[in-house]
Amino acid sequence: ALMITDDCINCDVCEPECPNDAISMGLEIYEIDPHKCTECVGHFEEPTCAVLCPVACIPLNPAWRESREELQAKYERLTAAK
Ligand code: SF4
Ligand code: SF4
Repeated sequence: ALMITDDCINCDVCEPECPNDAISMGLEIYEIDPHKCTECVGHFEEPTCAVLCPVACIPLNPAWRESREELQAKYERLTAAK
């Protein structure tokens, strides 16, 4: 999963673009729910939010390192739940 750092300027660009609805407004800045973030696996070649963020504040979350297979499995779980 990816994460949003406190460099976030709340520009609102990433939230509507996440295909998994993993991004929402937190107490002060936007947040990514790591249970929903597939790093865009299953949807796009690259993590959409990280590509779009104007201040490049969306790195990999070091506490949520996943293989491509794990991300694909998460995508399939999320899709099945819809
Ligand atoms: Fe959503 Fe993709 Fe960003 Fe994860 S990497 S939060 S799935 S847009
Ligand atoms: Fe924050 Fe970047 Fe999302 Fe804008 S695109 S709200 S700066 S994380």
